[in-house]
Amino acid sequence: MSELHLPNRIRQLALSQPSAPAVTAEGATLTYAEFDTYTNKVATALAALASPPGRIGALLRMGLPGAAALVGCTKAGLVFTPINWRLTPDEIAWIATDAQIGVLIVEADFADAAHAVAAALPEVRIIVVGDSAPDGATTWGQLVTSGTDTDPGLGDDPETALLQLYTSGTTGKPKGVVAVHRNIYNTPEGLELYEFGNESVSLDALPLFHIAGSGWLSTSLSAGLHVILLGEMRPPQVAAAIAEYGVTHAFLVPSAIGMLLELPDLDEYDLSSLEIIAYGASPITPALLERTMDTLHCRLVQRYGMTETMGALTALRADDHDPRGPRTHLLRSAGTPLPGTEVQIRDIVTGEVLPQGETGEIVSRSRNNVTGYWQRDAETAALCTDDGFLRTGDAGHIDENGYLFVTDRVKDMIITGGENVYPVEVEAALAEHPAVAEVAVVGLPDERWGEAVTAAVRLVDGVEAPTERELVAFTTERLASYKKPQRIHIVGELPRNASGKILKRTLREILGPRECDSLGTR
Ligand code: ATP
Ligand code: MG
Repeated sequence: MSELHLPNRIRQLALSQPSAPAVTAEGATLTYAEFDTYTNKVATALAALASPPGRIGALLRMGLPGAAALVGCTKAGLVFTPINWRLTPDEIAWIATDAQIGVLIVEADFADAAHAVAAALPEVRIIVVGDSAPDGATTWGQLVTSGTDTDPGLGDDPETALLQLYTSGTTGKPKGVVAVHRNIYNTPEGLELYEFGNESVSLDALPLFHIAGSGWLSTSLSAGLHVILLGEMRPPQVAAAIAEYGVTHAFLVPSAIGMLLELPDLDEYDLSSLEIIAYGASPITPALLERTMDTLHCRLVQRYGMTETMGALTALRADDHDPRGPRTHLLRSAGTPLPGTEVQIRDIVTGEVLPQGETGEIVSRSRNNVTGYWQRDAETAALCTDDGFLRTGDAGHIDENGYLFVTDRVKDMIITGGENVYPVEVEAALAEHPAVAEVAVVGLPDERWGEAVTAAVRLVDGVEAPTERELVAFTTERLASYKKPQRIHIVGELPRNASGKILKRTLREILGPRECDSLGTR
């Protein structure tokens, strides 16, 4: 088991393929032997500043310092804690304080956030990735030079913490999710999903602070691939990197795929090396999925998972997409469980396992699931069932062939007049209207129905605006009458968090229990 742990994989690969390229960032490449030595230096230097299980905070884009800090922490028994640098300085300081980080590795242009963290945690040691560091701080270059080549040799215990990631904060404040070694190692069966070959080249342009980013890095390195690290998911740079390095495997989130396909000069990039695009982290619309298949001509693998499951529970495999075969309802599915993962659907209220086809909460049991949150006893107690299944907080059903369909978040489900309504279904119906650019549906308190199905709609620029009544009428033939929106608000924009997910709790506050006429009759 332990040979599959990330630090041990790097140690092995340094011996079995020392001169193979490991990581390329900003045009510079380190081989597996060099990356192993480099991460030993980082590990010993960090171990001089913090003792296990100290939290090493990071405000880093995807790049060599981030990849080396992740691996270096695993070798030194420290807990790598990358923080979302898109948050405000105050939000960043809140997370740094919650995690009680002792060291912060920060890119020079995030100085405001570094100040906020230093003000909240006066003892924190600041390491600046840049040419110079302010008084009392060290540069990343100085840190690496201060380390030695000797591997601290830790990382063998499956129950030792190595990574603390914060959830996206879509449904509440971000929660620190603590991963131990057994949660993130990749088994050979798990790796089969991606059809890696000896010459595969992987692209990671995802945020390090999100499980998709750190997880894809760990997966790619564990498979011994050449990994191209790109600081940010900017479509022209993604296309250019695929063409320049002959990238065969990339993990992209749906919004990034959409932006890539919209590049006006997409045809000018040679993307023919692409073999597999893995995607996930948020739902994808069938329309975008079909457009991807028609445009990029590569195989696709969907992953469904969450921070708490340290990666995917289920995957819609490449063969399930089959770009040559007929398009089936499977394209709306999140696929089947990965090896070693059990998935069930349980009643949201009673917790009973539901029969096939019925919608309830998705629960899973796997060695990848974490056992709890950092210093949040109540949330940790609520995370798992008595028999060890993790509650995903997502609703869905499993069809007769064992395919999972993710419907929506349980917390977002609307109960109106005693009927359950999943907002995603109402959103899909409204999104079909040509004047609708974006839509989000929430339940708002309503005296008569308990909750009223309420939609916030952003209209396409420059089209003739439909009335709210016309929009409701449009859903009549698409939705059962109790699912039709009872109120529609036309809005200028929808509130989103730093990961781009729509914040329904904020939307509920904005729309509030407004005094307005109910639009639909049932
Ligand atoms: P918080 O837990 O703080 O409210 P979050 O749940 O958005 O935030 P993440 O752990 O980053 O934080 O996101 C996991 C969620 O993303 C899942 O629970 C699910 O709702 C959604 N998701 C991930 N992958 C998919 C997918 N393939 N299809 C549909 N939804 C997905
Ligand atoms: Mg969540």
